[in-house]
Amino acid sequence: MFPSILKSSKPKPPPQNFRASRPEQPVELAEQDVWALPPNVYWAATAPANKPAPNWLRMVCISDTHNTTDANNYPVPEADILVHAGDFTKMGTTAQIDQFICWLKSLTHIPIKVVVAGNHEVILDKEFYEKHWHRFHTTKEDHETAVNKLKSAGHGIIYLNNEPYTVDGAKLLHKKHQKQKKQSSTNITTKHVDTTGVADMDIDAPAVLDPREGWVEGYRIWASPWQPEFWEWAFNEVRGKLKDIWKHIPEDTDILMTHGPPKYHGDIVPQDKELHVGCEELLERLKVVRPLYHVFGHIHQGYGVSEIEWDGGSHSTVCINASSCTESYRPLNRPIIVDLPPK
Ligand code: 5GP
Ligand code: MN
Ligand code: MN
Ligand code: MN
Repeated sequence: MFPSILKSSKPKPPPQNFRASRPEQPVELAEQDVWALPPNVYWAATAPANKPAPNWLRMVCISDTHNTTDANNYPVPEADILVHAGDFTKMGTTAQIDQFICWLKSLTHIPIKVVVAGNHEVILDKEFYEKHWHRFHTTKEDHETAVNKLKSAGHGIIYLNNEPYTVDGAKLLHKKHQKQKKQSSTNITTKHVDTTGVADMDIDAPAVLDPREGWVEGYRIWASPWQPEFWEWAFNEVRGKLKDIWKHIPEDTDILMTHGPPKYHGDIVPQDKELHVGCEELLERLKVVRPLYHVFGHIHQGYGVSEIEWDGGSHSTVCINASSCTESYRPLNRPIIVDLPPK
C-alpha cells in the first residue's frame, strides 16, 4: 500500500517493512543501506508536495550542516517546522554562528526553526569554552554574545539547551495569516475603520482558528546538545555519566532532539571496534520516555531512519539520524520529512 522508499541507490529488493528493532538489537552492517520508511516519513526528494491534510504538521529534520549549506544551495523543502540537531558550524566561532543564522533566516518558507547545539559549537558551552577556547579559536570570543545571537535572532528561530518547546499551532497559523494579509494588502487601498468601542487587537493573540487547521495542542519537543565524550569537544560527557542529563527529559516528550544518537540507532562507525557508538544511557531513558520521534545527528555515517518497537509493537519511537553532511563533511544527505497528524 505504501511506497517502498530506499535509502540506497543500489537496486536491491525492498523489504516489506521499514527497519524495526527491539531496544537492544544491534543492526548488522549488511542491512544498513536498504529499508523502506514508515508511511509518514520521507527522504526529501520523494515526499509528496502536500501534507495529507492542512491540519497536519510537516516537520523537516536536518543536522550537522557545518556551515556548508549556503555555498552548496542545500535544498530545504517547505514545512511548518524545521528541526536542526546540532553541529551547525565548522568550529563554533561567532562569525560562523552569524552565517548559520543568516542561512536560517533565508528559509522564509518555514515559520519555526528549532535548533540545538552540537560538539562543534564550542563557544556555546560556557564552561568548556572558558577552559579550551585556545584549542579552537585564535582569539577568545564572548560566550554570552554568541548565545544571545541565537536567542534573539527572531524569524522563528528557537535555540534550545536542555529545555522544552511546545509547537504552538496558533502562533504558526497567526504568522501564516499575517503573511497572507501582507501579501494581499499590497494591492488594496486602506479604508478608514472606526474602532471606537472595539478592544485593541492584540497582535500576539492567536488567530481565529479554522478547525481543519487546528493543531493547536502542539507537539512537545525537548532538546539537548550533550553526547558521550569523543576527543574532548563541547558538550562532551564521559560515558556512564550522562544519566544525570537524560533524567531531565520530560516523560511526556513527543519529539526528542539530541545531538548524538542512542545506542544501536543511526550510530554505526564501521572503523570503531565497538561498531555502535551511540549513548547507552540515552537508550535507557528512551525506554522510559518513549517519544514518538527522536531526531539526532553527530554520527554522519548513520544518516537514516529506524524504529524501536515497544511492548511488542503496540507503539514505537522512530529514530531519525538527520546528518546532512557525509563523513567527508559534504552536504549530500537530504532532509528527512515527517508529516505529523493533529494531536
Ligand atoms: P563531528 O566531529 O562532526 O562531531 O563528528 C563527525 C564524525 O566523528 C562522526 O561521523 C564519526 O565518524 C566520528 N565520531 C563522533 N563521535 C564518535 C564516537 O563517539 N566514536 C567514534 N568512533 N567516532 C565518533
Ligand atoms: Mn558533525
Ligand atoms: Mn512518553
Ligand atoms: Mn558532532
